[in-house]
Amino acid sequence: MIIKQLKLILVSTPIGYLGSGKGGGVELTIVSLLKGLISLGHKIILIAPKGSKLPFDSHLLEIRLIDGVDQPSWQHQKTIDPVLIPFNSVLPKLWEDVIEIADECDAVINFSYDWLPLWLTKTQEIKIFHLISMGAESLIMKEIISEISHLYPFQLAFHSKRQSKDYSLKTDPIIVGNGFDKEDYVFNQNENGPLGWAGRIAPEKGLEDAVKVAKNLGEKLLVWGLIEDKEYASKIENTFKKEIIEWRGFLPTNKFQEQLGRCRALINTPKWNEAYGNVIVESMACGVPVIAYDLGGPGELIEDGFNGFLVKPNDIDGLIKATKSISEIKRKNCRDWFEKKATNKVFAERVENWLDKGLNKKISADFQD
Ligand code: UDP
Repeated sequence: MIIKQLKLILVSTPIGYLGSGKGGGVELTIVSLLKGLISLGHKIILIAPKGSKLPFDSHLLEIRLIDGVDQPSWQHQKTIDPVLIPFNSVLPKLWEDVIEIADECDAVINFSYDWLPLWLTKTQEIKIFHLISMGAESLIMKEIISEISHLYPFQLAFHSKRQSKDYSLKTDPIIVGNGFDKEDYVFNQNENGPLGWAGRIAPEKGLEDAVKVAKNLGEKLLVWGLIEDKEYASKIENTFKKEIIEWRGFLPTNKFQEQLGRCRALINTPKWNEAYGNVIVESMACGVPVIAYDLGGPGELIEDGFNGFLVKPNDIDGLIKATKSISEIKRKNCRDWFEKKATNKVFAERVENWLDKGLNKKISADFQD
């Protein structure tokens, strides 16, 4: 531990409870970081929507559950849409709870991609840190993130450089990546399994492109993930022969990794500036190489030819060619990359550095307007 023991409030996503899958990758990020920060000796109070469950317990952890209605997600709104707060919304209630206990704590880490917590940063004495989980999908979010960057440059962090480029920032971005517990993922040596795809079933994830690869190769595609957009999912089902896709559902991490580990490759086909791409790293943790579009986070996680292949966005022929060459990638390279760059211990240490900077560094004159 490089800094003294901290008492931290972690505020979960207001989209679904932890374990529901509605929050996407943020859910696993929170659970992983919690474990990592606790292992470094910090005390955590997690404030999360009612129903949230954690797969572990600790004397350093307190959970406060809050009831209320989910926030609509920004990725499914128009760029110019205003901020929405639904009736009986959980978001303000999560933050009323933060304000109630803030006096007892050293700092808050916010995981929700929402305007309200960013704006509150200007009004509270306690330092609120924001781990920004998406690229810029909305103008008002872009505006408030830029404003907070100018006022409190060390209180924002991003998962990848490419994600941070969506925003106009005062200083170089703080990049913390992401990380997962290595005990939760078993290395699988089998090189001859099926092809897989994992993610929320929603247009920005581009499942149809991976299905086209499986169709071209006359194979099945195993698909894991929460069906967020039913219309989109049935459109894909109706476009391709039923036998091509094998829907595996949304599984808890232990089952997900066990099935994913049997694949010979994961195909990752985002259509947006993917902030990170948890499933890419989870796949590598199991020894499964990844073929992904060179867009956003995936472009920083995959070292072309070492732990997978990068392909030009929307290039189906490129995906097919890479899939045919996948045996050139050593599965051990994938696990090694994960253990070096993306365990939750490494992630928690990067976050600890970030907090240290935000809590202790004076903003120099160069950074002030
Ligand atoms: N996931 C899961 N079970 C499944 C399929 C996916 O728990 O059966 C989780 C996976 O662990 C990952 C998340 O779904 O954390 C998807 O996150 P990703 O960063 O890939 O994309 P996002 O949904 O955040 O855009």
